[in-house]
Amino acid sequence: MELPAAGAAIAALFGLLIGSFLNVVVWRVPRGESIAHPPSHCPRCGHRIRWYDNVPVISWLVLRAKCRDCGNPISARYPAVELGTGVAFALVGLWWALVRLPQHLSVVAALVELVAYLYLAAITIALALIDLDVFRLPNAIVYPAYVVGAVLLGLVALLDGDGWGALRALIGCVALFLFYLIVVLVYPSGMGLGDVKLAGVLGLFTAWIGWGGLTVGAFAAFLLGGVFGVVLLIAQRAGRKTRIPFGPWMLAGAWVGIVAGEPIAGAYLRAFGLA
Ligand SMILES: [Zn+2]
Repeated sequence: MELPAAGAAIAALFGLLIGSFLNVVVWRVPRGESIAHPPSHCPRCGHRIRWYDNVPVISWLVLRAKCRDCGNPISARYPAVELGTGVAFALVGLWWALVRLPQHLSVVAALVELVAYLYLAAITIALALIDLDVFRLPNAIVYPAYVVGAVLLGLVALLDGDGWGALRALIGCVALFLFYLIVVLVYPSGMGLGDVKLAGVLGLFTAWIGWGGLTVGAFAAFLLGGVFGVVLLIAQRAGRKTRIPFGPWMLAGAWVGIVAGEPIAGAYLRAFGLA
């Protein structure tokens, strides 16, 4: 157990730093701003943030949620995103060490796969927050995810000699993209093209794990989104016209598929005597 625990701790620290970067991404990408320039600054007074005021979570606590220069409040969302990313990375690290690592022939392949799913965790947080903020899934994040996913998982397939895994991921990518495209064409008011484009990415990453990952991931998105919609209606927080972004549910569903899809699909097939 020492290795998974140590791996999770390292992943958590890495996640805190990535979370700090995601705060910049979530603020700037929907505004069409560069994520590299200018350096981080207070949105109120424009003062550049000193490196020692940019330590994840800790700086927010030390500064007691106020800008050092103008004293205006700093949203609790910043440390929450940093902490959330740290926890998410730790969980991905644990899942990988316990479930995925033993399945690889090559240790290098296993490590590349870990990087791929940490990347997916990072864009999951960024895309979910941006979709909740502005009802958009920016191409600037979604398009590169196809390239990063194909290159990293393609490399894993090459190192492990897992050509079937690569083909399955490609089929999943195309299948989920087409499925969402049909849904959007049939029921245009429910979702947008942003969801269709994201679906291809999620098809790639869930089908790489297995057919169970793909199918459970796709079902879980509609199940989670549907249940949440009904809860909102019952709580009368939403009218029938209230717009609820679907991206966060697609992303949450995909992670259900990635982590639990194989055992769920296996139990389902056994229950019906199919496996
Ligand atoms: Zn300020």
